Amino acid sequence: MPAVPAISADRRVDIAMTRRNRNTWGPLVGMDNHFIAVAEKDDRMCNRGVSYLAVFLDFDGTLVEIAERPDLVIVPPDLPTTLMQLEQRLGGALAIVTGRSLDVVDSFLTPARTAVAAAHGSEGRLSSGSSFGPPAVVAASARQIYETLASVVEGEPRLVLEQKAGAAALHFRGAPELEDKCRAIMNDAVAGVEGFGVVEGKCVLEARPVGTDKGTAVCAFMQEPPFRNRTPIFIGDDRTDEDGFAATQSLGGAGIKVGPGATCAEFRAASVTDVHRLLRGWLSDDVSPDFHAGHLTHVGSEMKT
Ligand SMILES: [Mg+2]
Repeated sequence: MPAVPAISADRRVDIAMTRRNRNTWGPLVGMDNHFIAVAEKDDRMCNRGVSYLAVFLDFDGTLVEIAERPDLVIVPPDLPTTLMQLEQRLGGALAIVTGRSLDVVDSFLTPARTAVAAAHGSEGRLSSGSSFGPPAVVAASARQIYETLASVVEGEPRLVLEQKAGAAALHFRGAPELEDKCRAIMNDAVAGVEGFGVVEGKCVLEARPVGTDKGTAVCAFMQEPPFRNRTPIFIGDDRTDEDGFAATQSLGGAGIKVGPGATCAEFRAASVTDVHRLLRGWLSDDVSPDFHAGHLTHVGSEMKT
């Protein structure tokens, strides 16, 4: 894992909360007391704050609703444009961080060509536009695992096998009753393949290189311009996103968990729709409390059940 870059005290992020109205918390995520996500009717402060952000976005369940099959997700027509505009406003410091492969991300989000950490960081594209992939030995191991899985799940149309440059995923959303069987199949396929392990997501099991996760992907981006020295925000919905939340929060930024469930993230967005609102809010010059209120809640202030 790359060394985590230090953030000096004078650039440390100040995260505060304010009560917007009786029942709604509006987040104030800021640096040097210049708030960004929300706040008072002060365009200067809001705009300055946005320019300090580095934004990392998961794809499935965060930017798009999860579909029955991974190839059936529906991308809102305005999403690529929103991402391109936000990337420009952030000086390029926006990256998609996903378990999907790079070509799949590009096929869904075209014409947007932001930085991407695909397959949990084992392949992707830098903000400069140059792409990167796994070492040849990792790619060969991933291919071996995929071929093993393909021979086992052949003839079961409810299971979806996904091949990536440095990983392989087995989706069982179409047959959740097969979860235990899929886990056994995946563990068998990975057994004996050096340097690979199994991680679990929402109705998916994935074989990927040990030590490669969304947190290491974020830390790698944060060492280089245009991300370096910015306030990192990670938005995601699944267990694999917890590594991303931990990374951004260790760097003085924030994590935003989408939907219900235990999390180490400091903030929560209720839905994909609320994520879109938040992204449009970062683009908007409308900084009125009414526009921004209600997009996020503070996880620490939630009622424990
Ligand atoms: Mg997700």
